[in-house]
Amino acid sequence: MSLIIEKKQIKNWLKELKKEFQVIDTRNSILPAKQYFLPPKEDIFIFNKKTKRLTNSSYQRKTLIFGLDLNDLEAMTQLDEIMKNPQPDFFYWQKREKSVLVGLTEESFGPAPGGDIIFKKINPYQYQAMILTEKGEEIINSPFFKKNKTRANEDFKDKLGSFRKILLDSEVLADAVAWSIGHKIWDELAKKCLSCGICTYVCPLCYCFSVEDKVNLDNAKCVRCRQWDACTLPHFARIAGGHNFHKTIKERYYNWFYHKFVRAYREYGRSQCVACGRCQRYCPAGIDIEKVLSEILEDYKKVKK
Ligand code: SF4
Ligand code: SF4
Repeated sequence: MSLIIEKKQIKNWLKELKKEFQVIDTRNSILPAKQYFLPPKEDIFIFNKKTKRLTNSSYQRKTLIFGLDLNDLEAMTQLDEIMKNPQPDFFYWQKREKSVLVGLTEESFGPAPGGDIIFKKINPYQYQAMILTEKGEEIINSPFFKKNKTRANEDFKDKLGSFRKILLDSEVLADAVAWSIGHKIWDELAKKCLSCGICTYVCPLCYCFSVEDKVNLDNAKCVRCRQWDACTLPHFARIAGGHNFHKTIKERYYNWFYHKFVRAYREYGRSQCVACGRCQRYCPAGIDIEKVLSEILEDYKKVKK
């Protein structure tokens, strides 16, 4: 047994939920859902010299993120895991715990990749709701939903796109990217890449940030702020004294791949990429991550034969 909702009623259901939640529709958004839990820029605490007190802006609003596709749901599942290690990121979880994630898809899928509820289109007028968590259960208790006799996902057929197929064997991918350090492709990409950082900003699984203290001119108040950083940016690996561990674009761009496909595999057993395609869609230099990985894998397999 599952629940169904008429397509035209989804709007009304979300309207109802607005009484309790800040409702955000993320369909086709350039920036992924990480922006709501790890914002591009946020003040994490303020120190007041006069009162000698530290205050942090406690986050009160309950948020419902609507319209995540299957890739973005999977990315959120992975990001939650990352943000728990080595210890929970307080500022991320402060917001994340008050949020509900609702997926929306026309594709059939096997095990649910994440989220609290997933709406799957079953015909042009109706969606089937798959409830995955207690949070999901709570918000679906509404007259807009009717019982349905068909079981969720009974039409699932595994149809993986070419990029997804590349990601299937994350062990081989990790070995191939580690092996590729001397490959000519990194020289070619270094000539194209503009070091703009867009690929990391739009990636649902890039989460590096930098921390900055801003002190008032009268020295009375200091705000600690964190903001997104990107390993492709020139200053990323620069340390006190001016030494830069990744001075060249080639080193930085390779490092981006190394983290996603080698380090992530060693730490979490899978690549930190869900094939969402944002980095290739928004790269001003037209660099296509799928093509880069395909070339590396092809050459790696030839050499390892
Ligand atoms: S978006 Fe493209 S040009 Fe910009 S840093 Fe990433 S790969 Fe380089
Ligand atoms: S396709 Fe690009 S943007 Fe999307 S998850 Fe993979 S690396 Fe990140």
